[in-house]
Amino acid sequence: MRHAVLYGPHDWKIEEVKTPSVGDDEVLLRIKACGVCHSEIHQWEVKVNGLDYPRYIGHEIAGNVIEIGKDVNGFQPGDRVAVWADGKGYAEEISVKANRLHKISTGISFTEAMAEPIACTTNAVMKSDIQLQDTIALVGTGFMGLILLQQLKLLSPKFIVAIDVRSEILDVAKQLGADFIINPQKENPKKLINELTEEKGVDISFEVGGNESTLNLAADICRMEGKLVMFGYHPGPRSIKDLGYWNWMAFNIINAHFRNLETILNGTRIGMEMLNSGKINMRPLITHKYRLDNIEDAFMAAKSKPAGFIKSVIVMSNIDT
Ligand SMILES: [Zn+2]
Repeated sequence: MRHAVLYGPHDWKIEEVKTPSVGDDEVLLRIKACGVCHSEIHQWEVKVNGLDYPRYIGHEIAGNVIEIGKDVNGFQPGDRVAVWADGKGYAEEISVKANRLHKISTGISFTEAMAEPIACTTNAVMKSDIQLQDTIALVGTGFMGLILLQQLKLLSPKFIVAIDVRSEILDVAKQLGADFIINPQKENPKKLINELTEEKGVDISFEVGGNESTLNLAADICRMEGKLVMFGYHPGPRSIKDLGYWNWMAFNIINAHFRNLETILNGTRIGMEMLNSGKINMRPLITHKYRLDNIEDAFMAAKSKPAGFIKSVIVMSNIDT
């Protein structure tokens, strides 16, 4: 089988290797789709100290079961499944622990069945402990923000404001349930949020963009004693504009990242149930598909975000069912 190996920044090699062996508690998957994750961009762009290269990345995997280990129950060859794996997803085949698999409902395509990102948003929503009629802002409504938006909407907030510098993404946010949209390059978010909240700021401000400006903006529009949820991925130092202000405002700062395997698997299970039952619509979010040989282009798109871009996914064939 073939897989893509990252030897250094922008340095991919597609290699032919043996089919992985299958442990007793594992299954062998024929991978159909693997999403390009924002968290992988940094290590593809620059040589990250402390990380070993070559790297075998790719963790947002969906495919068909082709073989099962002798202790595996509940799965059969042919099953369509999504899985969170610790890398090795940019490949034609992978063996994974069966307890990480989730079946995909008929009607949900492989590229839509992204278990790991949905696990992250699911866990973040649960950790932020939304209350009925909360006012919510999402600062950054790319792929992850648009999943968060749909899940938060189900918890009956008073309103959700989507904030992003890309107007075309704000249109998608509106279609998926955002009550208000703000482009900070065209309007003043703090002024508009103040108008919506009797000058208080929102109850919950999600920082999703993963950069310094989204972090500072999320704080600017959060109310006193409101929840400031750090959801974005921050692969390095950030400067907080005014820590004195954060301190004075008594923000409840929530780091919505998860490293505990049990938590991740629980989020995956709940998130996949929501996807399978139609509560999350991933179809409009999967905008760019690339074959394994063009993995560099998939990463370039994830970095440069061409017009209409929301998510790039590596696909192993042109058939997505
Ligand atoms: Zn991911």
